[in-house]
Amino acid sequence: TNGQPKAKLDASKLVVKLAEQLKPLPVPETMTFGQTQTDHMLIVNYDPEHGWGTPEIKPYAPLVLDPMSSCFQYCPNVFEGMKAYLGPDGEPRLFRPQKNMERLARSAERVALPPFDGDALLVLIKRLVEIEKRWIPNKPGYSLYLRPTMIGTRPALGVAASDAACLYVVVTPTGPYFKSKARGISLLAVSESVRAWPGGTGGHKLGLNYAPGFAPQREAAKKGYEQILWLFGDRITEVGAMNVFAIVKRADGALDAFTPPLDGTILPGVTRSSVLSLLDAHTKGKSLLPGVPASQKIYTHEIPITMSEIKVWSDEGKLLEIFGVGTAVAVAPVGRIGYQGWDEEVVLPQHDGGLGPVGKGLFDHLMDIQSGKVDFEGWSVPV
Ligand code: PMP
Repeated sequence: TNGQPKAKLDASKLVVKLAEQLKPLPVPETMTFGQTQTDHMLIVNYDPEHGWGTPEIKPYAPLVLDPMSSCFQYCPNVFEGMKAYLGPDGEPRLFRPQKNMERLARSAERVALPPFDGDALLVLIKRLVEIEKRWIPNKPGYSLYLRPTMIGTRPALGVAASDAACLYVVVTPTGPYFKSKARGISLLAVSESVRAWPGGTGGHKLGLNYAPGFAPQREAAKKGYEQILWLFGDRITEVGAMNVFAIVKRADGALDAFTPPLDGTILPGVTRSSVLSLLDAHTKGKSLLPGVPASQKIYTHEIPITMSEIKVWSDEGKLLEIFGVGTAVAVAPVGRIGYQGWDEEVVLPQHDGGLGPVGKGLFDHLMDIQSGKVDFEGWSVPV
């Protein structure tokens, strides 16, 4: 190189080129998740000689990449999923966006992509959301899904870290993920295919973690199940692309909320972390879950959950709720679980609307916080 220090990602260099003609907005109720392309995208490239280049917000368009680019070969591809919600004032808000910036940086580091300044990226993302604001449907449960993505663009076939990268952000309007689902989702517990294992990459948001789940997902669908409950041996890890919680009744009337620990086989979900905080806040009387009595203590535990425990809790009538949590769904109730090791399915107690009282309390509380109706520790930040 020329001896110059490589440029850092610098939001003040942003160049904005607006589309000459804006697209018609879709009817919110007819949208399918992730299928609507908006007017603009954010893009910035890194090259080994100069570092980060000029960030651009420009009309949405295909990328042009060398076919040898390492993203097509060795998968140094990482991404994030986050949402912008409209507040009561009609202004967009992000939910704990710093957490997504930190996770993206950790993911990039795991596949040896160049580092970037998360604060700078957040400034750029806020600008993009401001520009694409008209795409956020002004309806409860709707939001703008943001997909920050970073791919390796080293144009060479040698098996090596990508010293070039493209960082881009696309956005898409989104509605309630499981449309008007009045009952819980069905899960097939799978241990023959393993999503993540100790020392593997399940704790990072890498593109390469997802493709190996598609064939098992298709098999599960053929057997009549909506999602896979991913296992490692007898241990539960995640539900589809969500973290998982089990609510279990104790003899003293309190509840235990179990979720698997962050041992590298679980993605450290922003929603998971938020749900743990909200349950703790409820039990300490600091911020009550809507619809859950203040006297109802709920104790959180980040410890392994096994399939045998699920069966025993269910047989003993202690298993009250299982739900998945993630940005896309917030909280999704589980209705039944099939597993080849069991004679019959575990069926969860049914509730009107699908979610049990704890899941519903968390869902409602999260919606209120995300839309800026209620403050909780400054989690919802205006754009
Ligand atoms: N697990 C996996 C595998 C995921 O892809 C996601 C979605 N990012 C989650 C869990 C939930 O994470 P978050 O709450 O940050 O959306």
